[in-house]
Formats: sequence, C-alpha cells, structure tokens
Amino acid sequence: MSVLLMGIGVARGIAIGKAHVLLCEVPDIVEYALPVELLEHEVLRFGAALEKARFHLRSIRDHLPMTTPADVTAFIDIHLLMLEDSSLSKVPVDLIREQQCNAEWALKQQRDHLVHIFDSMDDPYLRTRKDDVDQVVNLVQRLLMGQSPSWGGSAHSLRGRVVIAEELSPADAVLFYHEGIAAFVSERGGPTSHAAILARSLDLPAVVGLRRARQFILEGETVILDGRRGVLLVEPDQRSLRYYEDRLQEDHSRIADLSRLSRLPARTLDGRRVRLMANVELPEDIDELAEVGAEGVGLYRTEFLYMNRSDPPDEEEQFAIYRGLVQVMDGNPVTIRIFDLGADKPFPGIELGQVSPNPALGLRGVRLCLRFPNLLVPQLRAILRVSAYGPVRMAIPMVTRTSEVMQVIRLVEQSRRDLRRDGFSFDEDMPLGGIVEVPAAALTVPSLARHLDFLSLGTNDLIQYTLAIDRTDDQVNYLYDPLHPAVLRLIYTTLRAGTKVGIPVGMCGEMAGDPRYTRLLIGLGLQELSMHPSSLPEVKQVINSSEYNRLAKLARKAVYAHDSEEILCLLDSMNEGV
Ligand code: PEP
Ligand code: MG
Repeated sequence: MSVLLMGIGVARGIAIGKAHVLLCEVPDIVEYALPVELLEHEVLRFGAALEKARFHLRSIRDHLPMTTPADVTAFIDIHLLMLEDSSLSKVPVDLIREQQCNAEWALKQQRDHLVHIFDSMDDPYLRTRKDDVDQVVNLVQRLLMGQSPSWGGSAHSLRGRVVIAEELSPADAVLFYHEGIAAFVSERGGPTSHAAILARSLDLPAVVGLRRARQFILEGETVILDGRRGVLLVEPDQRSLRYYEDRLQEDHSRIADLSRLSRLPARTLDGRRVRLMANVELPEDIDELAEVGAEGVGLYRTEFLYMNRSDPPDEEEQFAIYRGLVQVMDGNPVTIRIFDLGADKPFPGIELGQVSPNPALGLRGVRLCLRFPNLLVPQLRAILRVSAYGPVRMAIPMVTRTSEVMQVIRLVEQSRRDLRRDGFSFDEDMPLGGIVEVPAAALTVPSLARHLDFLSLGTNDLIQYTLAIDRTDDQVNYLYDPLHPAVLRLIYTTLRAGTKVGIPVGMCGEMAGDPRYTRLLIGLGLQELSMHPSSLPEVKQVINSSEYNRLAKLARKAVYAHDSEEILCLLDSMNEGV
C-alpha cells in the first residue's frame, strides 16, 4: 500500500529511489565506574576520539571540490571550532577525573548541560547551535564506541538512494552527496535550518520537518520525493510512478534549456523587461553570478562578514572585499546592505549587555547599526569608497521609521565629509535605499521615499512580521505563508506607493527566487527581482514565457482575494503552461 507523507519542501526537484533509513543516530550511552589507575588511559582515549573527529572533519573539508558552496564549508568549520572549544574538549576530561567515569558518560553529561543552557536561552540562533552541539557530540560518541565516524560508508552503494534521517550534520550531508544520493529527508528542521540551506547549496531535492518519517519508511522501499511540494510517496502505485517519471524527464530537459537562457534578458512575451539580480552572502558566491547571467547584485548580506569571529572586519578588509565584488560585476549595480545583525544573526563581538526577551523584535537590523556607530561608520566609509569603482547602492535593513533613516543619512554625510578630507574619491550620488521587511515600512512608503532613492521588499521578514510567525520556529512553520492576503496587500501597497512617488521598488526575499510566485510578482508590477543565483535561470524562463497584461489582471484579483486558497487558485491559472 502506498503512503503519502507531507513535510516542508526546501530544495526543489524530484527524486525517485530506494530509501536508506538511518535508524539510531544517538548511540545508547551507559555509565561505568573506572578504577583510579585507568583514568588517565580514559582521558587519552577521549583525546584520541577528539583527534579522529578533527581528522574526519578536516579531511572532508580539505577534499571538497572547488565548486562546493561556501556555506557548506562554513558549517564544517564551525564544527571544527567546537571541537577545539574547552566546553567540549576540556570539561569532559575534568568530569572523567572527578567522577571516575567513562568518557562516553562524561561527554553525555556535558552535552546535556550545554543543551539545557541553550534551551533556557530561547534564542532561535542558539537553537541551531544546540543542533551543532548534538552533531559534534554524536560524532565523538560514535568514535569512542569504535563506530564509523559517519553514517555514510554503508554496506551497499548509496548512489541514487533517498536518505531518511532524523537530522543530517553538514559533514554527513557532504559525504552522502559525494556518494551520489538522490535526495534526503530529515525529520527535524524548517525552511531556514542547516539541512535546508545545505540541500539548496548542494542542489539536492529535500524535504525537512517530516516528523516520524523513519517510522513509516522501511529500508529499501521505493520512495518518490517532491522537493517543491514537500511530499514523500512511499511504495507508490504504478500510476504515480509513471507520473513522476515523466515529471523527472521534463525537469531534465528543462535544466538543459535553462543554461541556454543565461545570455538572454528577462522579458515577457509582450515586452515588459524585468531585471534579475543576485543575492550574495559570502565573497565566494560571486563566481556563479556571470554564469547565470545576473544583472547585478540586488542584496549583499554583509553581516556574514561579521559572524563566527570575535573582531569585526575593519574598513580596509571590507573595502577590499566590496571592491572585488564591484569589479566582478563590471558596471552592473551592486547593492550593499549595511550589516543586518541581531536575532538569528549574532555577532560575538557585540556586548549587548542583556539577553533580549524576543530577539526578532529586539535590537537588530538598523536599530543595532545605530546603537554601534563605531561598527557602522567603518562600513559606511568602505561602501562609499568602493562607489568610486562602479555603481554601488547602499541599503538599510529593517527600516521602520523615518528618523532611523535620517540618522543613517547623517552618519553617511559625516563619512562623506571625512573621506573628502582624507582625500578619497567616491560617488557623490550613491543611491541609498531601504529594505521593506516590516509592515510599518510598507505602509509609509511616501514618507520613506522623501529620504531614500530605492526600496526592496524583504519578504522573508515581511511575512514573519505580518503573520507573527517566527521564521526560525519549526512549530509554526506551516503558517508561514507568502500567499496570505495581508502579505500580498502589503507588497502591492508598497509597489503602488513607490510608483506614485516615483521610487523604484524591487524584491530580495526568498519569494523573489521561487518560480511558483514569479508570474504573480510580475503581475503585481515588480520589475526587479533579486534571488539566490541558482534560482535565476528558472525564474527567467518563467518570465520569458509569460504575458504581463494577462497576469496584471489576475494579480489584481489576487490582491483583493479573501484567503490564501483563493489566491492559490488564481496562481494556478497564472501558472498554466509553466
Ligand atoms: C528578508 O527579510 O526578506 C531579507 C532579504 O533579509 P534576510 O533574509 O537577510 O533577513
Ligand atoms: Mg530580513
């Protein structure tokens, strides 16, 4: 009998294959007492397991192909750093000696202690760090117990298999990827969890948050995974199998067509031009931009330069990185967003003094930038200085009021005066824009437009703040809905107000890169979409097969729809033929 399971589709694509179910991720740990004379031997055994874990992670990292996305490498580096941290390398040793117990038990106690601390902190970023602790501890436990360091290396080949796991560590994901798995499912995680980011980076179809998946699927059963819809079909019947085999075939031919599109502009059949730009997170990301035909950078998330280090990047370091990007873009605009730290993107170098009771509503985005002018000013200077090398735009994250914008402008003006005095050149007219990611900004476009030159809709946060859904909380992920009428109305209001007051409005949230929404967005009037580079060809293909005038009528209806279901029906009509 076939079974249909629903999770969260995080990386598009269809996979058909045999399931490989990873059953016991956490080894059973037992405590045993050791005689004093064996304690130092136990400490050495623990040290050896740590060393093997380091060797394992280093050898994965060092053998990654050049094309491996930077975020995958960064995840593995974080795990390596954790192995060095005294909380995992030294405290268990103290526990072995104090409690005269085995290394596994000492490590388990320390793991429980750390997880308890993270649990009580109620911070979404630290929740993901808790998962990192678990993954690193699991690795060491497996090594202490003489097991293989990874879940890979199974007796049978994993090529073409769909891996079903409670959760995949970055290192395991990379190993499985190299073994040629077709897709993976994880029981935990949401659209922004590590597993989801990894799947997108590695271009592996994936479904996450599929709770208790391993109870429903047996090793070797045939499964079909639809990473777009978040569906997993177990032991499908012949009809479903044929349907998905055809879809898979269509996907293959579509991918072949896409690469031919990169040189063409995005333009609807009735001639409406749409500019497709790329979102960049790390300097390494820029290699892909020319390949996919990006017409500029619509969002450079500079906060990633500050994370996982204790000292902020100084003006010169930033200047060198931004200049590299501007030069690669060769005359196309580069939008550099001032650091959007706080909430799920902490910077250890900032002493906030107290833990925010609700980080998503606390000191983050522009609020944090303004609280720390000593961090902001070097960045403003670096951005201004690179504006001498090509078209640069500066964007402010999480704008909610004009006074914040004016404070940033004052600091920009001061930086301009200082740079002139110091003999640096820069673009005197460098555009300054704001990311619209809070309803307050969407509803006050005319006021913001008096001070800003452009706006970009940050739908990831706009949806979070409009629907009161923490985007990192997998308990409420199912309510995170880009098609909620309130979200569409805010997007439309922003666009209409922008047109009225003559300020360009683009979009740089994830919605912009999801081809399911492309026709709706261009129908609503968007002419600049910025997205992960890998999404760009498919979005372009949708645009180039669309008729703007038809979509504009349907999109207007969607704006006044009563619920997401009605909007979904309209979206289906728009997407006919996609
Ligand atoms: C957004 O919120 O849509 C956005 C682009 O910013 P980030 O995802 O970095 O919060
Ligand atoms: Mg945001």
